[in-house]
Parts: sequence; structure tokens; C-alpha cells
Amino acid sequence: MTATHCPYCALQCGMRLDLAAAAPAAPGPAAGPTAVLASARTLPVTVSGRAFPTNRGGLCQKGWTSASVLVAPDRLTTPLVRGADGALHPAGWTETLDHLAERLRAIRNEHGADAVAVFGGGGLTNEKAYQLGKFARLALGTANIDYNGRFCMSSAAAAANRSLGLDRGLPFPVTDLDGAQAVLLVGSNPAETMPPFVAHLAGARARGGLVVVDPRRSATAELAADGAGVHLQPTAGTDLALLLGLAHVVVAEGLSDDDYLAARTSGLERMRGFLAAWWPERTEQVTGVPAAEIRRVARLLADASPARRGGGAYILTGRGLEQSRQGTDGATAAINLALLLGLVGRVGSGYGTLTGQGNGQGGREHGQKADQLPGYRSITDPTARTHVAGVWGVDPASIPGPGKPAVELLDSLGRADGPRALLVHGSNILVSAPDARAVRDRLAALDLLVVSDVVLSETAASADVVLPVLQWAEEEGTMTSLEGRVLRRRRALDGPAGARSELWVMAELARRLEAPGTWSTDPAVVFDELARASAGGRADYAGLSHARLDAHEAATDGADDAGLFWPVPSPEHPGTPRVFLDGFPTADGRARLVSVDHRGPVDVLDADHPVHLVTGRVLQQYQSGAQTRRVPELAAAAPEAYVEIHPLLADLYGVDEGDTVRLTSRRGTALAQARLTRSARPDTVFMPFHWPGAGSVNRLTTSATDPVSGMPEFKVATVRIEVVGPA
Ligand code: SF4
Repeated sequence: MTATHCPYCALQCGMRLDLAAAAPAAPGPAAGPTAVLASARTLPVTVSGRAFPTNRGGLCQKGWTSASVLVAPDRLTTPLVRGADGALHPAGWTETLDHLAERLRAIRNEHGADAVAVFGGGGLTNEKAYQLGKFARLALGTANIDYNGRFCMSSAAAAANRSLGLDRGLPFPVTDLDGAQAVLLVGSNPAETMPPFVAHLAGARARGGLVVVDPRRSATAELAADGAGVHLQPTAGTDLALLLGLAHVVVAEGLSDDDYLAARTSGLERMRGFLAAWWPERTEQVTGVPAAEIRRVARLLADASPARRGGGAYILTGRGLEQSRQGTDGATAAINLALLLGLVGRVGSGYGTLTGQGNGQGGREHGQKADQLPGYRSITDPTARTHVAGVWGVDPASIPGPGKPAVELLDSLGRADGPRALLVHGSNILVSAPDARAVRDRLAALDLLVVSDVVLSETAASADVVLPVLQWAEEEGTMTSLEGRVLRRRRALDGPAGARSELWVMAELARRLEAPGTWSTDPAVVFDELARASAGGRADYAGLSHARLDAHEAATDGADDAGLFWPVPSPEHPGTPRVFLDGFPTADGRARLVSVDHRGPVDVLDADHPVHLVTGRVLQQYQSGAQTRRVPELAAAAPEAYVEIHPLLADLYGVDEGDTVRLTSRRGTALAQARLTRSARPDTVFMPFHWPGAGSVNRLTTSATDPVSGMPEFKVATVRIEVVGPA
């Protein structure tokens, strides 16, 4: 038995893997923590849930079926190199890496070091994320590295750093939510994205305190029905305004925690001025949410707050709020509301964001962001540069400065002054990036596209060189959950003979490029170096090692305090399950109430685009679908793109259930099967983003970005609807 964690989302559910020889796959439905899903294929391991605080033995459909990805039909087992005939051909590792090093050196010599760019992923282990940042800066000498977390967590991270001085998605263990009297969820649908998380909302539901803000009656919004709470259904793109309206009521009705505000925050007076304009009736005009509902929810949250001796309140945000050109300000408005109510930095209440990708938290801490070095430190901070350079054994001046954030980087590919080569690790940007057609054009303009992956994803299929790599159950490493809990991911079986660890790939390329520094292929050794590089930083792992994590896990065995939470600055330090209890890591120790205002989405309604579009996820698919679309059970349940349309809107455009409809935005068109449902607002359609080609909703989304975080506005666009084919 191997105790490990799910390969998908940031809940990082605990699971056990048993080699099929010892516990062969048996048919039968998923009925509990020890059930095994049937599969038409022979799976190398069986998957079962195990006791762990985030999932308490439960797994969602994605987790149960995750063994299928190990034997995906198009699992890559040998390097592929595009030949003169335009096709990808198998090649040996030595010749491929020799060829790659030569091409990279030639591009660098001709166009400069920044002509080679790197694009990482929030699913990479901490070790790989760390090594990728080091590889880009030392082996390639480029400033241009960023990753797909820019599409996921960047707005929430920027807001938390700005307001609280630190970004740890949930600054408390997820189990703290169990005892809450009220939970406000803004733009998050965990009932589909991370179902075992819903158990932690049971307390708030039982107390009638679950509040869900979503333009759609999502599966999570349904949980707030029937006395369990409230569903607020604002006009698409107005959730920031709704938060301002809630904060207005808290201030106007004297519901704020004034002692807390005086002792622990700054900026209140200036913010009061901004909030004055958002009285409930005006907020109703902008958001469509009735003023009475706004007052009711503000009072519900206040009644649960510590100042009123309530049972505790939490405010949690998700991508629905954050994936916006005003995403940083949206998350800031949520933090402001939490601060007004005195929730942050207290046991039993709080603010947090529900990180999406499996290592979305660790992935943003170890140096694969364009502007950061390991330890979650600024790349422009001279002290941080000196410290990290010391660990790497190089001159601080040799570490490049900040590079371009993801959308800007992708938009610059192949242009006269942009990168000529791109190395992609753990990302399928042809499906997951905004304005997908423009991304395809930019990738086609490159001299060299190299993709490391486990399957021939859409991006890999368009590459010049494809490198087959190992995946979750085939290698050792660590991940960091959405709560900052550092976890061990363990190897249960060997990968295909021809696949290699990305640590090995980077070491081999670094040697060929005569990079300075050492390049271990042992994850435990790389982790030790990561820990030293992070020492003294905001995300401090200095007191951690694989051995300590293993020993701690053996001692805690699934208990609620299992896992060690960063910061862990020394081997003796017990970890920090809750941050901010003793103050905020800002210059004056106070949280900042940052004044923000509502600007609205970049797309506006007009005669050509008269309907709002919101995008999101479904239970059976994960991110770009590169893994989950290859799992038979998941593909059968969610096989293709669809669009949810309210029956009134469908009547207006003559759409019947099952029709193929064309959606057209200012960027392009997408085709999807119509599903008529009253969960959508009559002025808004919903389309998930997991599918490529004509069904890719990211053909419609805008690459307009948040000026602070660089986050694209994935969530909201405007479209017109036409029927192109009958059911
Ligand atoms: Fe995996 Fe997330 Fe599902 Fe848990 S909730 S089984 S971590 S995908």
C-alpha cells in the first residue's frame, strides 16, 4: 500500500494505492471510502480514499478514477521530434536532448537569453516547480518564466499580499470551517470542483448560514436552499459591487467590529468614503440582487462574527470573483468585508481563497512566477536575490530580473522582440489560456516549442519536441494543499520505460548548457535545497524535509492535525496551522483596508452581443481536461462542450434542448450543445471550459487582464446565440 494524495485539485485528498497484483480492480460502484470503480481497462493500481483531514476518506469521481490516467491510451513513452514531413517521430533521449540543447543555444546566441521562455504549471510538485524556476534563470538565463497559476490564483494572491502581507490560500486548516455559524462563498462551486470539501460546510448549513454568491444556481448554490442559507444571484461581473454593498450595510448599521478595526487594521476612514456610494438600493441597481437580501446577508454574517459572540463566520472566494480584470480588487473587497467584521486572524473565523490546482499553493511559492524567487520572495528584493544566489552558488547579479506575466508572455511569442522558443511543463495552454485562437497563432510563430507531458495534449500535439515524463504515482515529491499543509506524494509504481522525471530532464539539459550550480535528480535532495532557498522568506520551508514529513505523517495518521503547515522555519518548529493570530506581516503589523471600487467587465452588452456568458467547471473534468478526458468513466459522463440556457432565453432565440448552438463573442465563435435549465439567469448562459477545438469556450474569452495580478478575464464575456443544428 502506498499512502499518497490525489493528482488533481488543491484539496489534495488522501488516497491509498494498492498494486493491482495485490488488490486487483473489481467491478462495482463507488459506494464509500473503500469502494473501487469498475474500469474496462486493467489498471496498475486500485485507488481508495484514506483518512485525511481535507477529505476524511472521501474522494470525488475524478479521484476514484485517477488510476486510468496512468494507462492513458496515448501515454507518451518516447521523445517525439517533428520531422521535415511535419509529423512527430519517435527519437532517443540522447539525440533529442543534444538536439534541444543545440537549438536552445543557437536561439539564445542569435536573439539573447530572453528569447527562450518557460511556462510552468500549478500541478507540478514543489520540487519540480522550484527546479523549473532555477533552470530558467540559471541554465537558460531567461527572465521569461511564468505559469498557469497566473490564470488561477494570481488575483487572490495579489490581494492577500497587499492587504494582509501574506498569501496562504486558507490561513487556517480546512477543518476549522466545520464549526462555523456562517460561510459566505463568492464565485466558488466546490460541490463540483472539490466535492469532499462540502462536508466542511455542513455546520454552516445546519445553522442556516451558508451564503453562495453565483450568477448561476450551481450545485453549491443548491446547498444553500431550503433553510440552509441564501443564494445571491448577481448580474455577471458585478460580484465586487455586491461585496461593496454588503460592506456598506455593515458600516451603516454599526455591525463592524470597531475594537478589532482600531487595534488591527489601517485605512478605515478612506475606505468608508468609497463604501458610502454603495447603499443597498444602488447596489441592487448594479447587481440585480434585492436590497433586502443584501441587508439580510450582511446581518447574518455580523450575527455570526466574534464581536457579536456568534459561532464564527468565514468569507471564502473562488475563481468566479477572481478571474476578472478587477479580480484583485474583488478579492480585496472580500478581505475588507472580513476585516470589517473582525474575522481575520482569529480562531473560528476567517477569510480565505479556495485554491484550484493540485499544487496551486506550492506552485506559486518556489520561483516559477515571473516576479518571484523561492520562499515567495520578490525577485527585485536585493536581500532575497543575495540569499537565493548563495544557495545556488552564483553571483546575485547573474539572476535575471522579473519577466513577463503569463498572458503578456504568450502574446509576445514569436513577435519581433518576443521569445523564439517556449518550454512548457505541466500545462495545456491551447485549451486553458484565454483567447485560444490567438494563442494558437502565437505558438505557431515560434521557432521551437517543447512540451513535457504524460499524454499528447493539444499543446503537445502542436510542439516541435515532446518529452515523455513521469506522473504523480510514479515519482516522489511534495505538494502543498490549499491550506499551506505540506504533503508527501509517493511513488507506487514504475512509469513507462521511456518516460523520465522532469528533474532528470532539467539536469540533463543544464549539463549540456553548461549551467552553473548543482542539478540533483533526487526529489528529497531538491526539496532540501528548496527548503534552504525558502529560509527567511514568506513561505518558509526551512524546517522541513521528506524524512520529517514522513515521520510526522506516521505519527498523526490522518488526524485533523496531520501535515505540517508553512511557515516552518526550523526542524524544531511545529508548523503554523493558523497564521495572522499574532498580527499581520505588514510594515506596521496591521491589515490594510484597501479602498477599491467596481469597474465592471471589459465586454459590454450591445446589439451584436446581447447575452452574458459565464464560464466554469463540471464535476467530471479537471482544468483543460488533458487527463480527465482520457478517463473512460469521466468522458462518458461529460463527453463534450455544452451551454446552459434559461428556457426564456432559449425561447427568444428558438433554441431547443440538445440543439447545437453557435456562441459568438468579440474574439471568435464556439459550438456547444444546448441544455435548457432554470439554473442559468435569463440574461446569462454558462459554458464549461474543459474541451478543445470548436467546443472551447476560451475561443470566446478575452485576454484583457487585471492590472495588478495579470489575471485574464476568463469568467465573463458577452455573446450572441444562433442555432446551427437540431438536436
Ligand atoms: Fe481529487 Fe480534488 Fe476530487 Fe479530492 S476533490 S478526489 S483532490 S479532484
